[in-house]
Amino acid sequence: MVKVTFLGTGGAVATANRDNTSLLLEIDSELVLFDCPGSLTTKILRAGYRPEKITAILITHIHPDHIYGWPFLVHSLRRERQSVRLFGSKETINFSRQLLDLFRLQDEKILFRSEPQVLFPGEEIELSAGIKITGYPVSHHSSSLAFKVTAPSISLVFSGDTAFDDSMVKAAQNSDCLIHDCSAPSRFFERFPFLAAYHTSSLMLGKLAERAGVKNLIPCHFFDDFGFSMEEIKEEIRKNFSGDLIIPEDGQSIILPPEKMAEGL
Ligand SMILES: [Zn+2]
Ligand SMILES: [Zn+2]
Repeated sequence: MVKVTFLGTGGAVATANRDNTSLLLEIDSELVLFDCPGSLTTKILRAGYRPEKITAILITHIHPDHIYGWPFLVHSLRRERQSVRLFGSKETINFSRQLLDLFRLQDEKILFRSEPQVLFPGEEIELSAGIKITGYPVSHHSSSLAFKVTAPSISLVFSGDTAFDDSMVKAAQNSDCLIHDCSAPSRFFERFPFLAAYHTSSLMLGKLAERAGVKNLIPCHFFDDFGFSMEEIKEEIRKNFSGDLIIPEDGQSIILPPEKMAEGL
């Protein structure tokens, strides 16, 4: 079974409705966490999972809303005599080590261990039989990677934070599911032009997903503090994208690929 659970769907500023973006992917025997903001423990438990069962953590980049929960997660699992594989760019892996050192979370009394591994651009690593991950540099921060997961049953791409980027069109080509930065409608990018260098509008995301031939699109990392409606997001994406579309809420689980998708909101 392939199931994705959104622990958060918001941007850097958490609101009453949307916490920082992070998701769990259950795929066969793997439980993969994408990004590690804040305290995830309660949300992971509420979703019916146990944090110590996570088999791999993929961190897209070192902005606080994507990595600040990493030392907390290790601290909360400190009595578990086990380990988790951690993947990211070289810069992200170095930074994740520094965070653990800062909190003295690599001392002997900490039983929980991480196995950090640099994911070089374009390199494919097998997580377990038939399940592979690949990292793609994207336009956002020097540490940024998007991730692609391929398995016999599905191909799924998670962009992390990114500007509209041709490398994402390539990475997401004909994928079953694209989970992508959709920070705000285009009118905010007109008002704050610098945003286009770091994030993707709903208008541009629709173009990207259509060009890539994506079957299912799940936008996220919404700047909920800007106050736009999800109806506006959906309308802008629909100007260009004809595939299936789900607008996720925090805590929502989605079985992939959806049989017959009911459109979110
Ligand atoms: Zn972010
Ligand atoms: Zn960022």
